[in-house]
Amino acid sequence: MTAIDYDLEFLEDGRHIELISIGMVCDDGREYYAVNRDMPVRKIRKHQWLMKNVVPSLPKGQGDRRNHVPKSWLFDYADPVVKRRERIAEDVMDFIRTAGPDVQLWANYGAYDHVCLAQLWGRMIDLPEGVPMFTHDIQQERARLGLRWDELPQQESGEHNALADARHNQTVRRWLAEQEARTP
Ligand SMILES: [Mg+2]
Repeated sequence: MTAIDYDLEFLEDGRHIELISIGMVCDDGREYYAVNRDMPVRKIRKHQWLMKNVVPSLPKGQGDRRNHVPKSWLFDYADPVVKRRERIAEDVMDFIRTAGPDVQLWANYGAYDHVCLAQLWGRMIDLPEGVPMFTHDIQQERARLGLRWDELPQQESGEHNALADARHNQTVRRWLAEQEARTP
């Protein structure tokens, strides 16, 4: 079994889940991070929580480029991690398939993450071969082992950056596996 831990940042309005950014880390050491060039910028602007917690970690202009990034932009469109949604769908499919046929997807409170991930390719029936049809949930494993949510390892920094969150998910999932191994 090879696990991929992932996290998405998204805009969610009770009807739609729209991708902002995605971070993935694989047991084999590979990592992936992308920001959706096609995110609904106007809606995000009106969303206080996203503006405060998620937008600050999106790529900003740096060095010489700083002057070319208008203040009105939420992120630097020229940054290499910023990609079209279709391109992200291709990258993510390759990332998952490279992990092999017995890959597991893992996320934390991952129901919305799974739907937003799967919708990269359209409807449920459009899910590409080799992409798992469900995501294992850290919280379900935590409950199964009889642990409280506040007993899990805490994230030290980078919360709401999708890659930092995915790395932390990997830490927590591995910690849970250690707890289980210790249980007589
Ligand atoms: Mg997150």
